[in-house]
Parts: sequence; C-alpha cells; structure tokens
Amino acid sequence: MNLCDFVPEYIRAIQPYQPGKPISELVRELGLEESTVIKLASNENPLGTSPLALAAMIKTLNAVARYPDGSGFELKAALSDRYAIGTDQIILGNGSNDVLDLAARMLLKPGATAIYSQHAFAIYSLLVQTIGAKGVSVPARDYGHDLPAMLDAITPETRIVFIASPNNPTGTLSSAEDLLRFLERVSQDVLVVLDEAYNEYLPEANRTNSVSWLKQFPNLIITRTFSKAYGLAGVRVGYGLAHPDVADLMNRVRQPFNVNSIGLAGALAALQDDAFVERAYTLNRAGMLQLADGLRKLGMEYIPSYGNFISFRVAGDETNTRKVNQSLLRQGVIVRPLGAYEMPHHLRVTIGLESENQKFLKSLEHAMGELV
Ligand SMILES: *Cc1c(COP(=O)(O)O)cnc(C)c1O
Repeated sequence: MNLCDFVPEYIRAIQPYQPGKPISELVRELGLEESTVIKLASNENPLGTSPLALAAMIKTLNAVARYPDGSGFELKAALSDRYAIGTDQIILGNGSNDVLDLAARMLLKPGATAIYSQHAFAIYSLLVQTIGAKGVSVPARDYGHDLPAMLDAITPETRIVFIASPNNPTGTLSSAEDLLRFLERVSQDVLVVLDEAYNEYLPEANRTNSVSWLKQFPNLIITRTFSKAYGLAGVRVGYGLAHPDVADLMNRVRQPFNVNSIGLAGALAALQDDAFVERAYTLNRAGMLQLADGLRKLGMEYIPSYGNFISFRVAGDETNTRKVNQSLLRQGVIVRPLGAYEMPHHLRVTIGLESENQKFLKSLEHAMGELV
C-alpha cells in the first residue's frame, strides 16, 4: 500500500518487541493442558495480587462508565506521603513504560541522541527509535552498565541517559556510589532516567534512598512500577519522580486519562499493603537461592541477579539454547530467550513459587539430558 511509503524510514525499521509467550498461545500451539503450563517469562508476581488491591479494583468495576481521575489525585497524594516529596514531582503512567515514553517524547527529536547500555531493557531503544532520534548502546561490563563509558559517550546532542538498576534481563545493580559519581559528573542538561522497576526486591543492604538525590539533581527522574512486587502488571500503573519543572512538562505530553480507574484504585490499595510486598520479597529471596542452587547443581553458568529473575547460559553454541528453550516449552515451562538482547546463549527465568521453580529445574535437567 502506497500510504506505507510515507511512514518514516525510522518507523519502518522498528523490530517489534517480543513479549513473553502467553500461556494460552503455548496451549494452542502444543495442545498442552492449560493447568500444567507455568509461565516464568515476564517477571510477573507469582503470588498474584494483593487482596486489598483486588477488593479495591472489584469495587471500582461498578464505576467504569466514568472517566478516571485524570490527575490521579489520591494515588499521587499517597506516593507524596510515602516519599516525602511534592505531588508536583510525580508523573503517573500507564505502566512505567509510559513514563519512559513521556520522557523520550518530551526531550527527543530527530538529531538528538539517547544513551543506554548493551543488554539493557529493550524498551529504551524502541522508544528512541519511534521518535527518529538516535540510540547509542554502550558496551556492557560483566553484563552490567559501564557508567564511566556511558558518561564518555555523551555528546552535545545527548538528551537522555537511561540506567536500569537492577537491569532486566541481566539482573545487575549499579552501586549507589557509582550512580552518585555518574550524576555528579553528567551535565545537567542531560536527563538521567533511573529505572528502578525491581527496587522492592532489593535486600536491605543494597537499598539506597535514591529519591533523596532528586533535591540535588534536577536532571534526574526515577521510575518505579506497580507491575512487579505489587502484582499489578495487567492494569498498567507506574510512576516517575522528578523535579517539578520536568514533571510539569511530562504531564503536558501525556494523554489526559493515561491511567485507568481500575489501575488507580488497585495501585492506591496496593501501596498500603506492605505485608503483601514483604511476602513477595521473602518468596523471591528464597526462590532466588533455590534457583541459583539448582542451576549450580546442573552446572549452568548464571548471572547473579538483584531482580525477580535469573539469566543463565546454556553451554555450547546457540542451537543448544534454542533446543533447551523448545524442550522447556514442550514440558510446559515458558522462559524468555534473550537473542534480542544480544545474549543468544542465555535464557531468563522468572522466580516463581517453590513448586514452579522445582518444575522448572526438573524440566531444565531433562532438557539438558536431551542435548547429549
Ligand atoms: C518490567 C520492567 C518495567 C516495568 O514496566 P511496566 O510498564 O511498569 O509494566 C520497567 N523497566 C524494567 C527494566 C522492567 O523490567
């Protein structure tokens, strides 16, 4: 069709994002019994959703004829309380992906560049490409962000640096000292997007009060989400914390009703349910040990992770990784291949319930046995 010829080349060049395979798709493809399939492919919360959030969302279903509160007044008030910052410093999004998108659309245009790390969350490059700006991927160091190299990659055209900590899919964490050193050196006319989607999973010893850095660095935005530890991935709520001037401009870019009423109600209730987040954290720590231990026993190399997932390497050539993934699928276990992340030898598994982790390990052992 001729119309398509008018679509900018940078749009036509986009490779679609590859989400984790839905259970229903695997059931259709392989004719498996739905209840036997486990999905450990999208870093979702194996505990489901906070019961408080569920109740609040069900209640809101009765009022969906009305538009949501476009200002997100109550959720912003609760976040403002929690972080002791102004409500004018908060941007709500349809998932934190939306907030990342708002940052990109606010600042980027063709000719501008944005920097991110090799093996970083795939959404960054996608957003940059959608605008026709240039994405610069800086080689990773031991799978993690090489912050000094990212600093060196900045040019006068650079408007945004994306940093994921912990990063998905590598699970690597940038230390508070390294992040502060980076923030102190980066020019204040470059926006630093610190993506902390997995913040709630960090052990006490690795937590930093990054929100307190906002006072010192007006060019910093911190993004967090209700999709992971809060178990609300399906209703899409995330947020950004930034300087009021930055938040104001981002709020002008967003759609007036970008967060739906069910999501707003669920997030507000989830934020009060510390017990649920604590359970998610504890389960994740135990599952991390279980999986790391199991992978070690199978002789698999893995990248130590600070998230709710682990990426591990299948020895041999890339065909082996594909075969193992196929075998896992046939056994009803969905994990994520990482070819799109320049990690064609790796698979990423989300930490599930104890029984799910066990089924994954058993299936992986079987898959490895099929290789020889
Ligand atoms: C899962 C994830 C997000 C969260 O996305 P939502 O849009 O909030 O669901 C953001 N960043 C990273 C690195 C992630 O892995």
